[in-house]
Amino acid sequence: MKTDEIITKTAALYSGPLPDETMESLRGIARDYCKVKNYVYGRYSGVANVNRLTPVYTVLNEMRHCGLRQQLGLPAVYYELAVSEAVGDIKGMWGVLRNRLRELISENENLSVEDRLYLRTVLKINSVFAAVLNRQEYEMPDKAKDMELDVKRLNNLLCRLVRRHLKTPSQQKNDFFTVSTNGYRSDEKGLYLTGRTPRRRIFIPVKGIGGADRQLRIILRENSVRITFPVDAAARKREDYTNTVYAYIGYGDMLTLSNGNVYGKGLGSLVTPETERLSEKNNERGRIYAAYRKKAGRYKTAEERNIERPAGNDFAAAKETPDESLKKRLEENNLGRKKYDEQKRRAREKTQNFINAELNRMFREEKPERIVITRPVTKDRAKNHSKAFNRKTSRNFRGYIRDQIAFKCRLNAVEMTEISSKGTGSICSNCGNEGKRVKEGFICEACGYRSSTAVNSARNIERIAKTGGMKHRTE
Ligand SMILES: [Zn+2]
Repeated sequence: MKTDEIITKTAALYSGPLPDETMESLRGIARDYCKVKNYVYGRYSGVANVNRLTPVYTVLNEMRHCGLRQQLGLPAVYYELAVSEAVGDIKGMWGVLRNRLRELISENENLSVEDRLYLRTVLKINSVFAAVLNRQEYEMPDKAKDMELDVKRLNNLLCRLVRRHLKTPSQQKNDFFTVSTNGYRSDEKGLYLTGRTPRRRIFIPVKGIGGADRQLRIILRENSVRITFPVDAAARKREDYTNTVYAYIGYGDMLTLSNGNVYGKGLGSLVTPETERLSEKNNERGRIYAAYRKKAGRYKTAEERNIERPAGNDFAAAKETPDESLKKRLEENNLGRKKYDEQKRRAREKTQNFINAELNRMFREEKPERIVITRPVTKDRAKNHSKAFNRKTSRNFRGYIRDQIAFKCRLNAVEMTEISSKGTGSICSNCGNEGKRVKEGFICEACGYRSSTAVNSARNIERIAKTGGMKHRTE
């Protein structure tokens, strides 16, 4: 068993409500941070700079002297990180583009084997790639030296493909920024960020941030912030973790174990009212948005084309200012996307916190050396599911639960085994005969065994795991 594997995970902390003045300062930094990144994207993502991105120092040095920082009045700690981040994104963009070009080259039937080999070699060597794109002299790579090639034609092809597929990155969101360790200090009260005024820090009260020594990402919310940062966790096997846990992941209760213990009791009921509320709200929103789109002359579905004009004076006003009045109505009715997203996010976070707390409690109390669960059931992937179905499945947290179990297993050096769910639901865990799932639970008419369906499933997982027919998960 691997015991010293380093795992990086992203941790998040949340501030309490912040004064308007603080939020305004943070928003200002985030706005400028975004401006700097977009400036770098615009200036350095072209072919002329393809060979100048590594090391980042070249670009950084130019950006230090271009006057933008002074113009924005942005502290260097933010400015330089924005530049580095943008350069990283541009490099990522080139990586994606090269992969795309490799595909296009493979697909191109007008190319010979040698043509393809040459083009792939050029793609691999950055200095040669840059020279080709900028029509500069270069030394023919060894691999291509003895080939008979129409180099001019191939280089033209490459230039053309790059021109066609090159996309300059851009950042629309201006509600976050990153800060390195020299841009903040922290203690048990919170975070003290470098601000625009020298020697005046921006204070953000956050519990648990004390001693932070990582690059932080500050994500702005309506009147608070979310702070994320990477943390390393060395997976270490715990001596007192010696049990095997057989767990059924349910819709009502989160986890039911074969020993009868339940973790995340009532998770389903925690999720459902919220799901319903959102669905109701969605319908209302959908109706008003449809009216809005209709006004704006954009029709989405045939159904929407037939939407009746709402009665009342709303549309009389709308006639005068076609877009504004409806927009206003959307906002007045609290149906603006911002508020909706915020509510959705809050509900999701609440549920995720509950899931995590209960999973931690399970690890603590059950002390597992190994956890056995069933593999996710993947139903007909090609099928185009309805919107309602997708919403339902994205809101039920089984995928999230599985990910968290897997992650916590790695964190605690616990082995995770997934077995097929076949037969875990309908078969009696006591005698192996086919039983019945009724409203009250699971009933076996052959042996008289009765239990909740979740307990029966968990016991079946134990039975199947012990009698074979299982596959080990290696990750
Ligand atoms: Zn039975």
